[in-house]
Amino acid sequence: MFSAAFAYALPLRDRFRGITVREGLLVRGATGWAEWSPFAEYVRPEIDAWWRATVEAATLGFPAPVRERVPVNVTVPAVGPERAHQIVADSSCRTAKVKVAEPGQSFGEDLARVEAVRDALGPGGRLRVDVNGHWEVDTAFRHLRDLSGFDLEYAEQPCADVAELAELRRRLARSGVNVLIAADESIRRAGDPERVVAEEAADIAVLKVQPLGGVRACLDLAERLGLPVVVSSALESSVGLAAGVALAAALPELPYACGLNTATMFTGDVTATPLVAQAGEIAVRAVEVDMTGEWQAGPAVTTRWLERLGALPGVREEG
Ligand SMILES: [Mg+2]
Repeated sequence: MFSAAFAYALPLRDRFRGITVREGLLVRGATGWAEWSPFAEYVRPEIDAWWRATVEAATLGFPAPVRERVPVNVTVPAVGPERAHQIVADSSCRTAKVKVAEPGQSFGEDLARVEAVRDALGPGGRLRVDVNGHWEVDTAFRHLRDLSGFDLEYAEQPCADVAELAELRRRLARSGVNVLIAADESIRRAGDPERVVAEEAADIAVLKVQPLGGVRACLDLAERLGLPVVVSSALESSVGLAAGVALAAALPELPYACGLNTATMFTGDVTATPLVAQAGEIAVRAVEVDMTGEWQAGPAVTTRWLERLGALPGVREEG
């Protein structure tokens, strides 16, 4: 099925979700390059969905786009306020997603970062925060009330589970705190994304192609959920990002900027022409891998990835 498989290792400019180097596997199939890059701590059966997305990209390609460009946000890791300001000022994006609630950091650090980002964006920019489920309902209510003064577009996964999100959303509404809730981990890791809708736990669904098993699976899910969708990356190389861009390009409605400008977070990429925003948008196009680039991982990392892949059911026979 695949003519080649190469592991990549891309250093990050700033530590992000606990890592400083992103690794993954690139494979080439009939319809082009595809990526498989479940995070190191992910195991079966969760990583099987990631592989379904890879197989789709390498053997079927993507559905026809309905738009040629996709608006994107700049992503601000849990850095200090000066660095946060610089990251936003250096981007061409009018929407910023700020990571908050980093383990080991204080809410004061979150406030300083969000304030710096609001300052860099100006009043016309859009600002969202991503909590990655780290707050209890009471904490989330207080912190979002405090952050709402910075005019938040939405808060992504403020609490870990669906029941908490639903309770928080009701409390915010009752208290007149105007912050929309987006569900991310509750969609892609809970195993029951429809519960988010059934319990009225979120206003927006964040969809990621690899964790949810491919572009077509995401389009089907978006239709079932009936919520506005924000497509985000799983911090992939430009090859993996192309699948996210393809999803964003194929959705009937795209009311929010997508979290797909993450190739800017690496010091290099697997292609000579990375999928990064120009004037706040990413063009919908194929990505060619540059085999002369410095992205290839060493033999130990490559062996580890091929062994991880080989442990999936059906892969050995397909390969
Ligand atoms: Mg998120």
